[in-house]
Amino acid sequence: MNFIEALKLKSKLFFIFIIITLGLLFIGIMGAINLNSMKKNLDSLYFGSLVPVIELNTILQTYHGNLASSIYKAKNMQITPYGVKTQIRLSINTIEKEWKNYESHFKRNGEAEYVEYVAAEIKETNRYFYTILEALEDGHDAKDLAIASIEKKITHIHEVVNKLIDYEVEVAKYERKAFLKVYDSILLKVGSMLGIVIFSVMIISFYVFKSIQIDQSALEIATKKLKIANKKLENASYTDTLTGLHNRRYFNLVYDREIKRAKRNHSYITFMMLDIDFFKQYNDTYGHIEGDAALKSVAKVFKDILKRPSDFVFRLGGEEFGILLTETAESNSAVVAGNICDAVRAREIKHEGSKVNKFLTVSIGVACCIADEALNEEVLISRADEMLYSAKESGRDRYSITTNISVATPHIAEETSA
Ligand code: GH3
Ligand code: MG
Ligand code: MG
Repeated sequence: MNFIEALKLKSKLFFIFIIITLGLLFIGIMGAINLNSMKKNLDSLYFGSLVPVIELNTILQTYHGNLASSIYKAKNMQITPYGVKTQIRLSINTIEKEWKNYESHFKRNGEAEYVEYVAAEIKETNRYFYTILEALEDGHDAKDLAIASIEKKITHIHEVVNKLIDYEVEVAKYERKAFLKVYDSILLKVGSMLGIVIFSVMIISFYVFKSIQIDQSALEIATKKLKIANKKLENASYTDTLTGLHNRRYFNLVYDREIKRAKRNHSYITFMMLDIDFFKQYNDTYGHIEGDAALKSVAKVFKDILKRPSDFVFRLGGEEFGILLTETAESNSAVVAGNICDAVRAREIKHEGSKVNKFLTVSIGVACCIADEALNEEVLISRADEMLYSAKESGRDRYSITTNISVATPHIAEETSA
């Protein structure tokens, strides 16, 4: 994957990341806003209704359970005069404190008027009990207190405060309904927002990944094409355009590689140098174009004879060719060389200018040996060259073969076929 493609992929993945982050951020913000509105609802339910009801109940409880009951007990001599006075004082204090708390809470429109009325009534009731307290302090006996009028006061204030409690409970019910409504709508809002965000992220991700996939397959196709083009280019750079045989460039590569392999394996290696006989005359007689056609025909003969994958034929230049055989003993190499001479001749390419045959012929120099570490690859070539010279000298249309590849050989033991 090249840099541009990688950059594209990176930016696409980054895009998805940004979308997901923005989506989460959006859900977070909306969630926070809605939670805040839920908190407001809960607060108004709790402090607007629940707490006030508790305070009003405490007031009622104090009137009944502490104030009135301590006066009854004093009248029946169940508590001391001191005890009742303390109870009255404490109760009035508690009631005033609770009422103050109640008044400090948020009040709705239309509520204030009744609250003011209740405040006046509580004040009036408390003043009434203060009067009783003063009378007791002045030495009046608790037994003389008028229970009927105390009961009337308590019943009245009970009715007044209870009405307020009923009102607050009604409001609480209403607030609860409102809260549940808000809660449901928030649930619906957050749920649908979550759904929309998840759906959008999925859709966007789908398209981004699809485009990444398309990019990837395009890249794979381009890579395949590039590989094929490279292979073609490589083949072209190793092929002789006229004959389709391997060229000298490829020879350099293969020769080096096969010599090394033979040296490692201590196996046979054969190199042949081939040259068309009197080719200059051929060109002179038939022209250069016909000469080229003859070169092609000869190359075809070589290809037809050498079919093993370990046999290599090269056009080394002009009308000179090289053949490399691996794992082929001297006797077999000689047979191959003889077959080539016969096959070229048998092709019957007319060559009137030749002094050896009426058809086109080739001469071959063959050098064959079992490779070892001491083998000098240059010498293998020069021996093949010498053998070619020898074949030419001995009359052409034949091969000369040697197995003597030592570096210092003034005399070469050779065998020539005719
Ligand atoms: P010998 O038997 O001694 O080899 O004689 P020869 O005439 O073949 O001599 P030599 O090998 O020196 O001649 C090579 C000739 O091959 C010279 C040139 O005219 C011809 N030749 C080389 N390359 C090409 C080619 O690509 N096309 C054609 N048509 N002719 C070529
Ligand atoms: Mg030549
Ligand atoms: Mg020649």
